[in-house]
Amino acid sequence: MSKFWSPVVHGLTPYVPGEQPKLPNLVKLNTNENPYGPSPKALAALQAEVGDTLRLYPDPGSDRLREAIAQYHQVAPNQVFVGNGSDEVLAHVFHALLQHDQPVLFPDITYSFYPVYCGLYGIQYRQIPLTDTFEINVDDYLQSNGGIIFPNPNAPTSRILALAEIERLLQGNPNSVVVIDEAYVDFGGESAIQLVNRYPQLLVTHTLSKSRSLAGLRVGFAIGHPDLIEALNRVKDSFNSYPLDRFAQSGAIAAMQDQAWFEETRARVIANREKLVADMEALGFEVLPSAANFIFAKHPNHEGAVLTAALRERSIIVRHFKNPARIAPFMRITVGTEAQCEALVGALREILA
Ligand SMILES: *Cc1c(COP(=O)(O)O)cnc(C)c1O
Repeated sequence: MSKFWSPVVHGLTPYVPGEQPKLPNLVKLNTNENPYGPSPKALAALQAEVGDTLRLYPDPGSDRLREAIAQYHQVAPNQVFVGNGSDEVLAHVFHALLQHDQPVLFPDITYSFYPVYCGLYGIQYRQIPLTDTFEINVDDYLQSNGGIIFPNPNAPTSRILALAEIERLLQGNPNSVVVIDEAYVDFGGESAIQLVNRYPQLLVTHTLSKSRSLAGLRVGFAIGHPDLIEALNRVKDSFNSYPLDRFAQSGAIAAMQDQAWFEETRARVIANREKLVADMEALGFEVLPSAANFIFAKHPNHEGAVLTAALRERSIIVRHFKNPARIAPFMRITVGTEAQCEALVGALREILA
């Protein structure tokens, strides 16, 4: 507390990211990073960027990157907004598109950054409980609102909502913005980007942190109607004209263009997930159906917090959420390499014995 703080700062409850421990030899399965590393072509593009041009500012509009993303997703470049990680994109989304008289709606169990942005920008929100099976029920969102946002697949539950249900939500909600945060969609979902030309209120966000394995580069983007994109650009250009540096722009372009690497690594993650789910179920765990690069699992006889601590003693880090109470039994486990998943299952077998 300091008398020098702005009033809003006194009231902030910042987001707490999963830890990035500095210890070597950890099996790190706590922040949903991709175990297979970025495209070698992205790494080469980053290396090529080291040089005298670093004295110059980067392209403020990230035009070439937006073109690469537009081409990949078959939309126009003026339907693409890019930011310093999708967290920054989402911050601008809350500021530019979700700050209205009515409350924003999102699930009670979801990405915990959403209420933080609401706190930062003074936005009212209403949390809509997931069903008993941790699913989003679209009917619950057909009420007056200042916007709707949720991840699909949802985090930390890993469950996917079918595209037809998202379309039903859009049809029942024509007058406020619907944001689908598709951070994990490449691991098992169908993207709602194919709906943006029919629904001007739809904005879809993506990140290169998970399926493109570039969490360290900080690149995310949003796709939607040009009017929504213009709102985001207005906020961005009132905040930071150069959110993506030269490395981020070059590396991200190369990553978007390396289809072969993308397909190969995501197929490996999906295969590892299926094996991990089967192994966990054989140990007695209940695992929610996952369409993501992580699983959400609980054991009928062992508490999530206790298992998380026991894994940590064996240098395996997973994520546990105390709140809300109905997810406290669970652990959220990132799908790692074959060897990392085996280490996890071996450790759990030992702990349960
Ligand atoms: C990881 C994640 C993000 C943020 O991704 P960055 O691009 O790394 O900022 C956004 N939404 C959800 C649901 C995520 O899990």
